[in-house]
Amino acid sequence: MKRKCIKCSKETGIYLPHHRLALCQEHYTAWFESRTQRTITEFRMMTGSDKILVAVSGGKDSLSLWNALVKLGYDADGLHINLGIPEYSELSQKKTQEFAERVGRKLHVVEIKTDFGRTIPEISKIERRPPCSFCGTLKRYFMNLYAKKGGYTVVATGHNLDDETAVLMLNTLNWNTEYLARQYPVLPEGDGLAKKVKPFCKMTEKETAFYAVINGIDFVEDECPFAVGSTTIIYKKILSQIEQKFPGTKIRFYSEFLAKMYPMIRGSREAPKIGKCNMCGEPTQSSICLVCRMKIRAS
Ligand code: SF4
Ligand code: ZN
Ligand code: ZN
Repeated sequence: MKRKCIKCSKETGIYLPHHRLALCQEHYTAWFESRTQRTITEFRMMTGSDKILVAVSGGKDSLSLWNALVKLGYDADGLHINLGIPEYSELSQKKTQEFAERVGRKLHVVEIKTDFGRTIPEISKIERRPPCSFCGTLKRYFMNLYAKKGGYTVVATGHNLDDETAVLMLNTLNWNTEYLARQYPVLPEGDGLAKKVKPFCKMTEKETAFYAVINGIDFVEDECPFAVGSTTIIYKKILSQIEQKFPGTKIRFYSEFLAKMYPMIRGSREAPKIGKCNMCGEPTQSSICLVCRMKIRAS
């Protein structure tokens, strides 16, 4: 059904039911970028004097984030982590490199095969567990390392509202208070950890997809082959079904958690003691960090 853009009355197919908002392509882009800026301001994610490292996988969320941050005037470079997954990783790196040229910004590339010594599928065989159970740990490790090496003050990731609510639902159903206490869109710098932010935490997956398509961003459409059947995807599907029936459920679930539950959970917990890994010197809660332990098992 065609509606009229609330700004210029042009006919448009873009309608956001949870915001009761119809916008043409041009005004959608302006709305999306200003909402991103409002989120950045609300959570004090970054300022114009920060040096930002955007974690870019080659997917629609991370490339859209890089695009929006550069357009908003931030000093934002990219970091791509090549996981060594046949075909998927090659295509992801290619699209990311092409996009870096388009925005005219520096791109750092980490090859897990070189930097860690094994690819994700190889580590999975050695560890005898699914790639998703350790991939995030490796990615966070290298993001943090490269941010510090390059003098970046903030690491930005493209996590969107669908990602955040899926994890929130999973952690709530399991009452995993340890994870809930860390589920905030800004994690401050300290103990050898770089500041981490999620400027798209209030944007749905559909909204970032619209933005990417409208702005001609050439992203990898296929999901990582290991994502198939993952728990998060199941939760995302369920939440999207609820959202269809009751528009606004996702944003309410997330925003109300941040406003009401997060302060209570956070305030009731002591901050974990972070030390330095005896092998690599990176932050960890034990004597040897998870990545070095995996390295030992893989050697
Ligand atoms: Fe890593 Fe799993 Fe995500 Fe693939 S789906 S990038 S293996 S966490
Ligand atoms: Zn318009
Ligand atoms: Zn270590």
